[in-house]
Amino acid sequence: MTSSLSDVQSSFPEPKAPEPATGEGSRSAMPGLTAAFDPERFHDGAMDIVGRLTTYLGDRSVRGLDLLDPAVLLKTARELMTRERRRIADFDAERVNQIVDLYTGTGIPVYSPGYMGRQFSGVVPLASLIDLVGSVVNQPSSFYEAGQLPSVAERLMAEELNGFIGWDRDRFAMVTTSGGSLANLTALLAARNRAFPQIWTRGVGALPGPPAIAVSEEAHYSVTRAAGVLGIGEGQIIRLPVDQAGRIRPELAGPALDEAYRRGLRPFCLVASAGTTSVGAFDPLEELAAVARRHGLWLHVDGAHGASLLLSDRHRHRLRGIEQADSLTWDAHKMLFMPSPCTLLFYRDGAAARGAFRQRASYVFDEEPDVYSAYDSADKNLECTKRPMIMPLWTVWSVYGPALFAQRIDQLCEVTRQAHRMLAAEPDFAVAHEPESNILCFRYLPDDLEPAIAHRLQLEIRNRIRGGGRFFISKVDIDKVAALRVVVMNHLIDAGHLTMLIDEIRDIGQRVLRTSATTRDDQRNRSHS
Ligand SMILES: *Cc1c(COP(=O)(O)O)cnc(C)c1O
Repeated sequence: MTSSLSDVQSSFPEPKAPEPATGEGSRSAMPGLTAAFDPERFHDGAMDIVGRLTTYLGDRSVRGLDLLDPAVLLKTARELMTRERRRIADFDAERVNQIVDLYTGTGIPVYSPGYMGRQFSGVVPLASLIDLVGSVVNQPSSFYEAGQLPSVAERLMAEELNGFIGWDRDRFAMVTTSGGSLANLTALLAARNRAFPQIWTRGVGALPGPPAIAVSEEAHYSVTRAAGVLGIGEGQIIRLPVDQAGRIRPELAGPALDEAYRRGLRPFCLVASAGTTSVGAFDPLEELAAVARRHGLWLHVDGAHGASLLLSDRHRHRLRGIEQADSLTWDAHKMLFMPSPCTLLFYRDGAAARGAFRQRASYVFDEEPDVYSAYDSADKNLECTKRPMIMPLWTVWSVYGPALFAQRIDQLCEVTRQAHRMLAAEPDFAVAHEPESNILCFRYLPDDLEPAIAHRLQLEIRNRIRGGGRFFISKVDIDKVAALRVVVMNHLIDAGHLTMLIDEIRDIGQRVLRTSATTRDDQRNRSHS
């Protein structure tokens, strides 16, 4: 007969019943330690903190970033540290509240309609709560054993999102990484190891020639940094020219690669951007997939910002051809509004994902995979312990469904188009491009200014807005001249806010030009006297 689990268990001795407590000694010896871990502490702290955060979330005032002098902040923060060094200090609700207030009060106001500067955003509140659950139960991701529900949720979320990518569901794979930069590095590693399988055992010295990658001039810096980490020098990076809109020109990619082969390089990967960081330009994936196929290259798509557009019927066409890519970086902490970091790295071929890493470690990897370890992600992953970052995303997706994301994305892109229309109608502004998603760059240019002056004017406007304005916007250089950049990440932004922003920029811009004109006159007068 088959032996049951209870038979096996009965062959081990029963655990001993716990010893009865001896006197009062053991507990009272460490009252501070016991108190710090007392669940009641959690409850008391939570009530105060949740109350404060609710007020914070409800503050819809239009405001920018109030940048404190770091020396001042350092001093304030230091004063909040207990001076107790010998015993465990008592829980001090007041101190905790002060820390929370300082934390919320000194951050970029991501929930305010004045925030238009970066690619992370206010978070779906439910996601924050699940993040809190993750911090309490502390189930690090990477091994099924350590995080059972997160491991299963990763698989479910991978299937859901692959429905929008369109890869073979029996072959594709997904792994979470702490940020898009790490996802790009991991994808390049997988690509390199597929092209040069001997590298894992014999190292870079055994390569047939210098490995190279082809990237857009507009690629995110994490891509070239990842190349550097992989031993691919600057001279081995093939820069693909872009058009006026910032998209790779596919007809020039082939010749650039041919030239690289002539120089003895061994290109193995082409990196396209689905939404460049600077202007949000989407490279033509279909055409680039054809180039990659012709040259036997892995096609990696850095969709850190823009992959989320796949969820929108209206905007999905920007990623036409994605099903022909080999890997895709997708930041859920950008356009899926999750707490950062939460990045998903997709591979069309799961075997290639595992090929990126070939480690033996008997303390975690079993020689023979079983039904549990089939759900581990450590074999496709640079990280070992990492946050179960899928849980907020999977929970929000499970509770509200995909329409929540699609609608917000549509809304953000629509407001950005509206901003484009409004700015294009202002004679003293110049838009730098048509927005393809929710990123828009433009300049305040009341006259025909020389490039160097136009450049300084935008920088000065951006600095003054940062130094106490009602908005938080960013800047980017386009054709070596600074431009103002807004990233619409809040669905509460409306035409009224855009008008306020335009007025504020004009106001500041005119003041800057007036003072610089006065300074020029002063200088002229002085040099004439
Ligand atoms: C934001 C971004 C990255 C970097 O991602 P992190 O999550 O910040 O590490 C990479 N590529 C593109 C195109 C991005 O927009």
